[in-house]
Amino acid sequence: SNEQIALFTIFGGTGDLAQRKLYPSLFRLYRKGYLKEHFAVIGTARREWTDEYYRNIVSQSIASFNPTEDELVQFTSHFYYQSHNVTDTEHYTNLKKLADELDTRYDLKQNRIFYLAMAPNFFGTITSHLKSENIVTENGFNHLIIEKPFGTDFESANQLNNEIREAFEEEQIFRIDHYLGKEMIQNISAIRFGNNIFESLWNNKYIDNIQITLAESLGVEERGGYYDTSGALKDMIQNHTMQVVSLLAMEPPAVFTEKNIREEKVKALNSIRIYSKDEVKENFVRGQYGAGTLDGQSFIPYRDEINVNPESETETFVAGKLMVDNFRWRGVPFYVRSGKQLTEKGTRINVVFKPTPINVFRSENETACEAETMPPNVLTIYIQPTEGFSLTMNGKEIGDGFNIDPIKLDYRHSAEALDNSPEAYEKLILDCLKGDGTNFSHWDEVAQSWRIVDVIRQTWDNETPDFPNYASGTMGPQSAFDLLEKDGFNWVWTP
Ligand code: NAD
Repeated sequence: SNEQIALFTIFGGTGDLAQRKLYPSLFRLYRKGYLKEHFAVIGTARREWTDEYYRNIVSQSIASFNPTEDELVQFTSHFYYQSHNVTDTEHYTNLKKLADELDTRYDLKQNRIFYLAMAPNFFGTITSHLKSENIVTENGFNHLIIEKPFGTDFESANQLNNEIREAFEEEQIFRIDHYLGKEMIQNISAIRFGNNIFESLWNNKYIDNIQITLAESLGVEERGGYYDTSGALKDMIQNHTMQVVSLLAMEPPAVFTEKNIREEKVKALNSIRIYSKDEVKENFVRGQYGAGTLDGQSFIPYRDEINVNPESETETFVAGKLMVDNFRWRGVPFYVRSGKQLTEKGTRINVVFKPTPINVFRSENETACEAETMPPNVLTIYIQPTEGFSLTMNGKEIGDGFNIDPIKLDYRHSAEALDNSPEAYEKLILDCLKGDGTNFSHWDEVAQSWRIVDVIRQTWDNETPDFPNYASGTMGPQSAFDLLEKDGFNWVWTP
């Protein structure tokens, strides 16, 4: 049987993440039979809720799945609520009592998952109490899931990690980067290591540059308060983007297992050049959106958003060039960019191959040096909102004469396949139940990503940016285009 056995304790059980992502994911796992009889959920937060009220909230959060009455009653009967201030030691006694009770009632084998869906400043307090109050069990597994952000720089991340490690071993810690739960991110490895035509060209002899774009078409919406203290560099580059770079850049693992993949990812991250402050100025640019219009809709400037400082110097856009200093990648820029309020929503990877050495289709009176090179082959991996890949190639245009015409081999997963595919959180929770940490961020990865990003942040914090510098509805400031142009490249961005 596929059934997994565990008690979930969700800290922040009344919160947005719990309601929008966690309860729906648990329900999907329940429908698929991964969760059946032997599971229970304790929701805990400060509010005084009854079990009945909590079960109503859980019911509402899964309403879109159209559960039958029977399913609803069965599923939600596994949910229990305990009001609890995480800073109050006494409350952990109640929590332990309930946990042990449920363990017996549902025969949970002392398997426990602690999900910290709360602000990170509470993580250390919670984990130390889990240990000191013996809520961590002796005989089952004890897995800790924590949400981003993991620190605000290397120092704070390291401190946070040390606190958590007082109570949990690295193998017990599952740091969520929900990008790693996405189908097409996991597909990067399938494309690379399952296709000799790509893996044999996956190096600086054949690849000109790699481009990673994480574009959002929305502004900060109601997250202004949080976002204004973070910015795009910490919110998108340090975590998601660096993870994608490591998957693209890593060496093939001996076997596709957690330990081997981890080792290769860490090696790749360790090869990324840590810039000096001068190099940061050369290689990274930032932006903040001003007013703008798109498709007849007008947008307000970032500085006018709710809970944003009207003189905010927070970046809503980052573009940069990363260099991976190893045999495989020497000289190949990895261009990354991420921003809000851009022209369209889309996360994509473009692998731009080198053009043919000579354009033999040039006219007879042009020399090989004068002639334009052929358009490059580009492998595009579409991560969201559409999912799939495409490859541009040069073919002959149909008809008389001999004209070259770029064509595109294009594959996208169908809407139906996507509807049935598991959501990122669902996959990650299942991985955690099974004890598979492959698609989570290891401390070594987090640490190195911060080292790379810290110097960028420090350089920028010493200078006053000229914000706003891009109009809403565009693909960012001019400097992001200049960044590639000075290397003789362009952002590849086609529908
Ligand atoms: P939220 O503000 O909606 O929920 C916070 C929860 O913590 C609430 O249940 C609240 O009651 C509880 N809480 C706060 N102080 C407490 C205390 N002293 N004792 C006990 N409970 C307390 O936040 P959220 O959006 O659900 O986010 C939770 C975490 O997940 C944050 O770290 C956030 O950065 C991260 N995250 C959220 C999302 C998302 O989509 N919401 C996405 C990625 C990461």
